[in-house]
Amino acid sequence: AGATWLGDDKPLDQALREADLALRRAKRAGRDCIRVFEPSMQAEHDERARLLAALRRAVPAQEFRLHYQPQVDRHGRVVGAEALLRWNSSEVGSVEPARFIPLAEESGLIVPIGRAVIRDACGVLAWWAQDPATAHLSLSVNVSPHQFQHPGFVDEVRLALQTAGVSPSLLKLEVTENVVISDMPGVQAHMQALRALGVRLSLDDFGVGYSSLSYLKHLPLSQLKIDQVFVRNMLTDPREAALVRTVIALARDLALELVAEGVETAEQREMLSDLGCGLYQGYLFGRPVPLESLCVAQ
Ligand code: C2E
Ligand code: MG
Ligand code: MG
Repeated sequence: AGATWLGDDKPLDQALREADLALRRAKRAGRDCIRVFEPSMQAEHDERARLLAALRRAVPAQEFRLHYQPQVDRHGRVVGAEALLRWNSSEVGSVEPARFIPLAEESGLIVPIGRAVIRDACGVLAWWAQDPATAHLSLSVNVSPHQFQHPGFVDEVRLALQTAGVSPSLLKLEVTENVVISDMPGVQAHMQALRALGVRLSLDDFGVGYSSLSYLKHLPLSQLKIDQVFVRNMLTDPREAALVRTVIALARDLALELVAEGVETAEQREMLSDLGCGLYQGYLFGRPVPLESLCVAQ
């Protein structure tokens, strides 16, 4: 990445600041590209800075809550849930994960945030374990690349499981392809260590990234989640349906559990079921809700 200033009558310090913004943009876009400063970049930068400041304060202020979305089998029985983070900021109001997770990831704040998520998730598993009606439920937690690679990660997971006294096999850690491609050896070591603990690993948003299939063979995964874009388009686009069919066959051949994400209609569930997918998650079965509102009755 580099910067060019086509000298207009701006003060030098302003030009440098603008060049720096364009440069950062180029780096964030994956380097090896050109970005020209536009005034909207300044506004976005200011907005990011404001959000980041609020995020820094949100960690000690404990402004995060988890919501839980049910995962069901082909008979409609709830088999588990996914924990999804919610942030209601005292300064900027409620913020979508799609906006604050990337910031938390870039700033490293995801490490303390994620630690609290895993601790809370283990607490929920301990609570479920007390009742025979819920003792079998698994809980899935999203883990982003920085968090997964953090040296203390495996120990934190082990400690959270031990403290809560829960069965590791009921905890599923969802990682995306970004985690897998970021640093293979380090990631593999953490994956093996987690697997040795008995924790399950799930590959989230499958199909939208690079989807190099070779890692499916090498990594100790136990679950794939087909991304919601395929589920959304499958009924109208035969090519998407073919992709879904292929992923289902792939999961079966590799003995991986398969979850379809973003199932919103009975037609989608039907088609997925016909294609051989047995686990579903989506608004059809329930939106993410606070724990006390999660309906796990059969
Ligand atoms: P994800 O892990 O793929 O989670 C699924 C997302 O799809 C959630 O969005 C969920 O609310 C949404 N969803 C579920 N069913 C449906 C449906 O039927 N239709 C539609 N349109 N959407 C549905 P959400 O909660 O906004 O989270 C977005 C992403 O943020 C997550 O994607 C995950 O990557 C990340 N995230 C959420 N919580 C955490 C967390 O605790 N830690 C980390 N590292 N990332 C998280
Ligand atoms: Mg997920
Ligand atoms: Mg997903």
